[in-house]
Amino acid sequence: MQRKSLGFKIGPGAACVIGCLVASMGADAFTFADGKTVSCIAGGQTVEEVETDPGQGGLGFTGKTVRTPSGFQIIWNATRLKALPPEVHDYIFFHECAHARVPTVDEIQANCVGLQDMRAAGRADAAVESRLGAFYGPGSGYWARTLECANAAGATKNQ
Ligand SMILES: [Zn+2]
Repeated sequence: MQRKSLGFKIGPGAACVIGCLVASMGADAFTFADGKTVSCIAGGQTVEEVETDPGQGGLGFTGKTVRTPSGFQIIWNATRLKALPPEVHDYIFFHECAHARVPTVDEIQANCVGLQDMRAAGRADAAVESRLGAFYGPGSGYWARTLECANAAGATKNQ
């Protein structure tokens, strides 16, 4: 088992709840499938991103946004993340970041804002969105509601 020791950046406030579960990636950035990196900015603050301990790879999530005393933190399960198709891999960043940016615990809301942010970042187009739709399942109510919300929000920004 190899472990990158890039240094630990767990703040004292984060305590054991988080510190015991995760190892720091050493950078608050996410790497897109094309190799470019991005940080999640919520409320003017860079959201800390950490990776689960390699031993925690079996955890039942790919990404998770949690509240910390100082804001938010995104926890990544790298094992599951890298197994995703590239567009889903990238979209999940926008989804998790939206949880912190809105902020919201609602999955459709996070999907909706995440898709808008992905479009704004120039990383979503018809082809990408159709592959995302296929991933979430043809006729998926989940994805249909996401699209409906993102399209409506694009039309009327002030809602
Ligand atoms: Zn979510």
